[in-house]
This record gives sequence, C-alpha cells and structure tokens, in this order.
Amino acid sequence: MENKLITVTSPLLPNLEEYQTLLKEIWDSKWITNNGSFHKQLEKELAAYLKVPYLSLFTNGTLPLITALQALRITGEVITTPYSFVATTHSLWWNGIKPVFVDIDPATGNIDPDKIETAITPKTTAIMPVHVYGKPCDTQRIQEIVDKYGLKIIYDAAHAFGVEVNGESILKAGDMSTLSFHATKVYNTIEGGALVMHDEQTKKRIDYLKNFGFAGETEVVAPGINSKMDEMRAAYGLLNLKQVDAAIEARHQMAIKYREVLRSIDGITFMDDMPGVKHNYSYFPIFIDAEKYGMTRDELYFKMKEKNVLGRRYFYPLISTFTTYRRLESSQPENLPNAHKMAESVICLPMHHKLTQEHVERILNSIIY
Ligand SMILES: *Cc1c(COP(=O)(O)O)cnc(C)c1O
Repeated sequence: MENKLITVTSPLLPNLEEYQTLLKEIWDSKWITNNGSFHKQLEKELAAYLKVPYLSLFTNGTLPLITALQALRITGEVITTPYSFVATTHSLWWNGIKPVFVDIDPATGNIDPDKIETAITPKTTAIMPVHVYGKPCDTQRIQEIVDKYGLKIIYDAAHAFGVEVNGESILKAGDMSTLSFHATKVYNTIEGGALVMHDEQTKKRIDYLKNFGFAGETEVVAPGINSKMDEMRAAYGLLNLKQVDAAIEARHQMAIKYREVLRSIDGITFMDDMPGVKHNYSYFPIFIDAEKYGMTRDELYFKMKEKNVLGRRYFYPLISTFTTYRRLESSQPENLPNAHKMAESVICLPMHHKLTQEHVERILNSIIY
C-alpha cells in the first residue's frame, strides 16, 4: 500500500460546482459583504441547526471572544483554563484583562469547577471556560458558582459545534458562547466564527460591535471592531451546513474503530462518550502512560511521523507556559498539575470525514508494537 501522508485533519469542502453556482449569484448581485443575503441566510440556518435563538456571524473564532468581553464590559481578572488554544487567553490580554489559570479535571480536560472558587478575588468579573475537544463543561456547577459571586460566563465553544446535552444545545449555557469555523474545525467557512447570545437586544448590540459600532448610517454607539463575514464565505458555509451531519457521522464511525482497538493497549487511554451527550467527534485525543506503554509521548509522536501518520500534540505546550503568561502567579506548574500531565501525555489522532478503513489500519499499526 502506498505510504501517503495521513494528516490530522482535512477540511470539509463544498461541492465545487454548487459553490460556483452561488458565486455566480454573488457576482451578479455585486453585493460581496456587509450583511448580504447569504450572510442573513447562514445566520438563520445556523441558529436553527444549532438550536439557539440568536447568533451573530464573525470573520473568525477569536474576534467573538474579544467582542463578548467588550459587550459584557469585563475588566480586572477572568478565571480560565491553560488547556486550550492560545486564542482563549489572548482574547483576555487584548482586553487588558488578567487571566487567572485554574487546573483542569483530568477526566474531561475542562476547567475543574471544584478549583474555581479559591481563584476568585475581588477583581474577578467573569469565567471563560472551554469545552475542550467538544466535551461539555459542568455548566450547572459553573453557573452555581457564578450566581453566588455575581460573575459572567463566556464559553469558548470553538470545539463544540452541534454538541448537545440531554437534547439541549451546549451553546445555551452561560452568558454567551463563541464558535470557530476555521478550516480545521468540524464545520468550517474557511475562516469564520460566531457569537451565540440569548436575547434580541444583545444580538443587536453585538451586530453593532462587529461593524465598527455603527447603529445606522451616521450613528456610532460604541468603539466597535470590524469582524463581518463576507458573502463568499457565507455561501460556502451554507453548502457545508448541508453535509456537516454526514461528516460528523463519519467521524463517529472513526471513533468507534479507534476505541475498539485501543481499549486493549496497555498504557493508552482515551475519552469515551458521555451519557446524555450528543458529541461531534471533533478530536480524538489519546493519552500515553510512558511507563505502561513503554515509550514516551514524544517517542510515539515521532515514530508515527516516520510512518507518515501525523498526530498533533494538542494542547501542548500549555498556554500558561508561553512568554506572555508564564510569570503570572496562576501559571506556576504547582497550580496546574493535571493540565501539565495532560499536555505532556496527549496526542490527537487523525480525525476527519475522509479517513478510510486503510487509513485506520495504518494509524493503528503505527501505535501498536
Ligand atoms: C480554533 C480555536 C479558537 C480560535 O478560532 P479561530 O477561528 O482560529 O480564530 C479559539 N479557541 C479554541 C479553543 C480554538 O480551538
């Protein structure tokens, strides 16, 4: 068998002819951005698909984080997780907010609610948790804490497209949630994202904020940013929405195959489905116990690479170890033992809708020895 490179992900691409038909419509209309008809349609269809009343499209998944913090007037300190993509913490920094890192629950990789309260100070104004790998946070526990201390919650739900708990969208939790539609995510618009809110008033305000603060032709109500999604990407997004269910099901089948084989390998653990949760299988992280497995995480990672199987050490290194953040008190490794352990043992296996049985065998053969 040909030993072609297996990448960790592969973008969900619309049918090219269908896309060309929509592009022709855009060319004919000459309306290429600024709340065009595809933009409006995608907002409507996405809200229906995700079972949320309101959302606002953005040009990527980072600006909704930054904008949510602005909209809720968050200042001072925000409690967050070091086990995420850097954009989570960067959004705080860009708002002049001090990130306070709290350790994770080793079972889910999400912020440990039991450790949030001790991190609260008089300066704390909000919590920014992440549904890591699309695994839902304990939203009920986090809500209870927030209610007690009068804080806000912004969920970074970049991994949690379509995830539901007991038939309810995970995006309904907290004050707002953000999504990323980057090429590497389960659902993509090449670059793109969204902010999910719960009422019409907030939606209106967010729509102003993502368009320089314009509330009309001549009125600017706030120092807004520019984060509008253009018509080309909105049209692309409409086509991808039609095939995302099939893509998620293909990922689900991959997860089943991986688990079947990996369950019997000593020193490798993975995450099972959670009861009552509709998962999106956005990532398939495995965790290496070097002693039991007989090889360190990095040794396995490079061995797979030699066999042309690209895993990803996602999330490694931790955000708290990067130059900007490493001097914060909360960044000290003693404060984050579970996060360090997970970051040092994880490899995300290739996971996307195009993987075949042959691929699975090659991937698993690169791990079994
Ligand atoms: C991808 C991602 C983002 C950023 O999204 P972009 O669309 O790349 O700006 C934010 N947070 C998490 C957890 C992500 O995985």
